[in-house]
Amino acid sequence: MTTTSIHANRIFAGQPTTVFETMSRLAREHDAVNLGQGFPDDPGPLDVRQRAAEAVVGGWNQYPPMLGLPELREAVASHYAHHQGIGLDPEREVLITSGATEAIAAALLALIEPGDEVVLFQPMYDAYLPLVRRAGGVPRFVTLQPPDWRLTEAALVAAFSTKTRVVLFNDPLNPTATMFPPEDLALLARFVVASDAIVISDEVWEHVVFDGQAHTSLLALPELRERTVKIGSAGKIFSLTGWKVGFACASPPLREVVAKAHQFLTFTTPPNLQSAVAYGLGKPDGYFHDMRTGFARSRDRLADGLRSLGYPVLPSAATYFLNVDLAPLGITDDVAFCQRLVTEHGVAAIPVSAFYAEDAVTTVVRFCFAKHDETLDRALGRLAGVPLGR
Ligand code: GLN
Repeated sequence: MTTTSIHANRIFAGQPTTVFETMSRLAREHDAVNLGQGFPDDPGPLDVRQRAAEAVVGGWNQYPPMLGLPELREAVASHYAHHQGIGLDPEREVLITSGATEAIAAALLALIEPGDEVVLFQPMYDAYLPLVRRAGGVPRFVTLQPPDWRLTEAALVAAFSTKTRVVLFNDPLNPTATMFPPEDLALLARFVVASDAIVISDEVWEHVVFDGQAHTSLLALPELRERTVKIGSAGKIFSLTGWKVGFACASPPLREVVAKAHQFLTFTTPPNLQSAVAYGLGKPDGYFHDMRTGFARSRDRLADGLRSLGYPVLPSAATYFLNVDLAPLGITDDVAFCQRLVTEHGVAAIPVSAFYAEDAVTTVVRFCFAKHDETLDRALGRLAGVPLGR
């Protein structure tokens, strides 16, 4: 095969295919149980899907307003008022996007001037760094360490500078499955305020938190209320990851500039999905409670199974994921381990080193537990055949 060399942007051309896509492809090729890419087995709430179907057949299928359907912006504001005690003006402080990733891209493109420093926390979601770089941002990394993945003052001192303009934060954090405690949020807020920066706060896992814990949005911290772009995802809230309906919530001047970028990225988001999400956001508390309880059960099933096979399981407080740290087993190459797991043992997982730009932790492997019991049991059955000895 001849390869034609084309003129292209180096940042994207130099990227590998995402680890999620790669592992899902390997899972298909090897007929593996896919605990890699994070998506639930469950088809998602029937009433919400029915609303979408009705809206496709009987509703408006032309461009909705650029900022999002008014009914959805109102539903987002009421939802966050009810669940997180945040007061938002649906007219001036809410923007609907085609997924959280678009919201993040729009916020980065809108807020970064070339040369601005952007603080990122490793391990970080794979889309962050290429988007920051493409926007002209200069990344400064805070590297978190297992098993707690906490912020430290020393790490923040090293990453923040007089050139810091944007902080890209994710809480609950994918892939670590942890939530930052209030003292870490307060520490971060202190640095953000001192450097006069804006935080893009990826809170897509806000509802997928376990054991009676509650997520705190950075928008709820008074000192960050005017400095935060809070990003949410209907895909994660309703286990409908393919829907790609996201929200960006921020004070009016911030929301306005993010919308300026959004209007030239996707401009709008399918109106039928927007109206179904507007309906879903008003579901009773019981729905959200049951969703969390169901995922926590699956988490425990997978965690117990892995533990009984000898895997050192790290705590999972949120997200669809749990991690194992293979260091005590003498396994130090997570990529090779995951490659062997999918090709020889028929289980796909994600090597956490894929979430680092430098100084990667290479002993941690992420499994998705948002699956039916049978799927988890099938994976555990196969994992039982993996030799773990030193
Ligand atoms: N958010 C999903 C995960 O972390 C992946 C989404 C994607 O494949 N782009 O697994």
